[in-house]
Amino acid sequence: MNIIWARSIVSVVLLGVLCVVVGALVNVETGLSLAVVLLLAQSLFGTFHKQRLWRLLDAPVYGEVPSAPGIWGEIYYRLHKLAKRWHAQVRQVEQQHSRFIQAIQASPNGVAMLDDHDQIEWCNAISEVHFGLDAKRDLRQHITHLVRQPDFVRYLNSHRYEEMLIMRGMGEKRQNVLSVQVFPYGENRKLVLSQDITELERTDAMRRDFVANVSHELKTPLTVLSGFLETMRELPLSEAERARYLDLMEQQSSRMRHIVNDLLVLAKLEGDNKPASDQMIDMRAVLRHLQDDAESLSSQHHRIVFDADEGLTVTGVETEILSAFGNLVTNAIRYTPDGGAIKVVWQLQGGSAMFAVTDSGLGIPAADIPRLTERFYRVDRSRSRDTGGTGLGLAIVKHVLQRHDAQLEVTSEEGRGSTFTVRFPAVRTARRLPAPA
Ligand code: ADP
Repeated sequence: MNIIWARSIVSVVLLGVLCVVVGALVNVETGLSLAVVLLLAQSLFGTFHKQRLWRLLDAPVYGEVPSAPGIWGEIYYRLHKLAKRWHAQVRQVEQQHSRFIQAIQASPNGVAMLDDHDQIEWCNAISEVHFGLDAKRDLRQHITHLVRQPDFVRYLNSHRYEEMLIMRGMGEKRQNVLSVQVFPYGENRKLVLSQDITELERTDAMRRDFVANVSHELKTPLTVLSGFLETMRELPLSEAERARYLDLMEQQSSRMRHIVNDLLVLAKLEGDNKPASDQMIDMRAVLRHLQDDAESLSSQHHRIVFDADEGLTVTGVETEILSAFGNLVTNAIRYTPDGGAIKVVWQLQGGSAMFAVTDSGLGIPAADIPRLTERFYRVDRSRSRDTGGTGLGLAIVKHVLQRHDAQLEVTSEEGRGSTFTVRFPAVRTARRLPAPA
């Protein structure tokens, strides 16, 4: 027997006993009247609390517990305990849900959930960007009304989702490439995962171009070499002809060696960790090296001036800096006709080190400047080849400078000359104390 039955029985028994006692003491009518009045009062009391309970269940106010004597107090208390437990559970589920949403929002991939009619139930911010959706506005919209690319519509309707779909021309500028895959789940629901592979495609295309360029660059001297070999084997040649052919063959093999060397340098630069920022370069030695090389390459065909602050230095890898600066100085000589002038400046400017090479040479058309650091990009192919260029010099410069947090600026005027300026950040700029006398 539960407490409600027990209390009801007790109160009826007490009421009965009271009425019988009053009936016996006064008279039967008075006992009966008292019984009617008490039953009425109990019924009113019950109706009042039933009404109160009804209102409470209709619009429960968490934490508000009405007080009442007897069984009603007990009911309200139990109800309050139930509501408290229920609230705690709801809060837990809400927290789990919000953590789950946060995790999907943090994903670098787009996630969109579709219901059994392919209407958008939910999507994360990345998916909004990928497909140009608006999570609030487009809720319950059929996805193919918003993502209308025929390829996507066909893929979604095909119900064959083992392979992913590549969508091109996406994003605001219609230049992005997405890889999209649908994963069915639950009752006919779908998860649409998307990933921006624009950069991946670009590097893949660059890799393909690079392999094609390397093959082409090596194929030309190889063809020449094998042509000479064939001639030497099949034709009777005079001693002088043999010597000339051997010279030409040597030129071609040295060209190939230079290309392979530069490729190895580039590969090493790409693979190595960033240079330490506490290793000071012996800039005096670098500048001396640059000057010697410049004079030997020019063989007094140019006026070469070095204006250098020898105490100024930077932190990084000396061999890399020598190779980058060397490429800039060599280019200035190679692309400046005899009689021209070359000036090399190494000085502090605005608190940071600056290296500039100015020549009075051929100059570079403005349209070519942004592409100069691409591998194998040449403005004047024949001049580059004639002067022993590999087309990789400025690509090496770019990599070395990137690794030293430095910037390359190029200004040029066709027919008048160019200036290649390297600016190091202040944090890499240092000053060497003069050597003791
Ligand atoms: P290359 O081995 O062909 O010189 P680089 O990468 O060093 O390759 O340079 C790329 C191209 O930039 C060169 O082929 C040349 O056309 C142009 N270039 C570089 N430096 C100069 C310069 N000082 N004056 C004119 N053109 C230059």
